[in-house]
Amino acid sequence: MILLIILAVLGGLIYGSFLNVLLWRLPEGKGIGGRSHCRACHHQLAWYDLIPVLSFIILRGRCRYCHTTIHIRYPIVEISTAIVLAFFFALRQPPLGLESVVTVFALLVLVSLLFFDLFYLILPDIILLPTIVIFTIYDITKTQNPLSYFLTALLSASFFAILYAVSKGKNLGFGDVKLALLIGLILCYPLGFLAIIGGVWSATIVAVILLILGRVGLKDKIPLGSFLAISTIISVIFYHEILPLTTFFR
Ligand SMILES: [Zn+2]
Repeated sequence: MILLIILAVLGGLIYGSFLNVLLWRLPEGKGIGGRSHCRACHHQLAWYDLIPVLSFIILRGRCRYCHTTIHIRYPIVEISTAIVLAFFFALRQPPLGLESVVTVFALLVLVSLLFFDLFYLILPDIILLPTIVIFTIYDITKTQNPLSYFLTALLSASFFAILYAVSKGKNLGFGDVKLALLIGLILCYPLGFLAIIGGVWSATIVAVILLILGRVGLKDKIPLGSFLAISTIISVIFYHEILPLTTFFR
């Protein structure tokens, strides 16, 4: 068990490090091939500059070559991914098999979307669309009642599509519509709805608090997708604890 959690942490750190590359390069339209460079001095980075979290600590958050500060988001992304996977394996203690692989895949996609929306207010199609296809196939072939997954997905997406149309894309983007579809495909009824309600409510509460504090204006956009991703991650990890709370849905 301990070994599995250690592996989950290491895997999370490694994926987080890869996600950092995606987070810089996808929005700039660059490919993910090629060596990593310092973003300030463009010096090519050695393998020992790229060890997740550890390099950041050893280098005290500065580039080895030009001493420019390394963005704090590098270790934050890596540690967050590690924490999500560690919690999943520690709390769910899933039997190893296809279901665990698919769930880990879902968690990694959700963490990725969380940070893309948080940093750039985008939910990239290149991540969303293949994942929607994979979960559609998984639900058809491996779940007992694919129809309830699809209904949850379609109802959730329709709800957001209406909000999107009414607000003319001001309060949410079309990426949120696709994300709602994906959440339905991952969690099904009733947890899918609960995750979406939790995401919308937490986004609203945080937005109101930030408004009161004067940290954001009425015209600022809130990364709703990040909140939806977080509530879905929590729902996946605490599936068995949350499910009994949803009796009022049934
Ligand atoms: Zn540098």
